[in-house]
Amino acid sequence: MRSVINLGALSLLCLFGSQPANAQSEACHDQACAVKVASAEFIRPPVGAAAAPPGRCPGLLVDVSAGSADEHRLVCSAADTALQLLGRCSITLRRPLQVQIMSPVRHPLGGPVFGLFDIPREQVLVTKETNIPALVEGTPYARLPRSDFYRSLVVHEVVHGIMHQNLERKATTHAAYEYPAYALQIASLPPGVREQFLRSFDQGAVGSDTLFSDAVLAFDPYFFAARAYHHFMSAPNGCAYLKSLLAGEVSFIAPPM
Ligand SMILES: [Zn+2]
Repeated sequence: MRSVINLGALSLLCLFGSQPANAQSEACHDQACAVKVASAEFIRPPVGAAAAPPGRCPGLLVDVSAGSADEHRLVCSAADTALQLLGRCSITLRRPLQVQIMSPVRHPLGGPVFGLFDIPREQVLVTKETNIPALVEGTPYARLPRSDFYRSLVVHEVVHGIMHQNLERKATTHAAYEYPAYALQIASLPPGVREQFLRSFDQGAVGSDTLFSDAVLAFDPYFFAARAYHHFMSAPNGCAYLKSLLAGEVSFIAPPM
């Protein structure tokens, strides 16, 4: 049953893989993903586009390949935010992280996506900001200032990269992969923009104590994001949640279906 659901959702949600706990552990949600990519072609820059040489962010273990100096600065700033948010929990990079801006970023089994984290290469891929309007159309993200949302998207993917380097045990669900990325993505938004996003949802439902599940992640990733932020920020010690996710021992994530 799970396979049927996942395959059915593939084209829209890029959620796939019937065995999240195995070595293939792909975690994909809506249009921003952590994924184990098998296709080298998928990683190659578009034909005719010269890849910019990697550039180290000042003071960070982050190397950025970007088309312009402005993009480089934006990615470094967002990566710094991700590192600061996780640094409060003593979770940080153990080795350099590669971030590449490219257009478009395509899921290997689907269409264009916001971005993804290529697990084998430990490489973050993020689409160009100019692609955002088409990708957010019809979602709660469409109402947010484009630049603020785009920056939060980079934070999301960099959080995947940092968490991955600190994993003690592989996640057994997509929800476990995505909880920290979404919680800190929403935390990175400017307060007014964050409130604007959170107002898109029923506040009682956002504050409920139901478990985080792959099903909700697949069918309403925006609500999942709002709940993850609220759950993380409401905790007496949200860092404990992140540490438990790294250890693979979580009580607030629904077990695999
Ligand atoms: Zn993600």
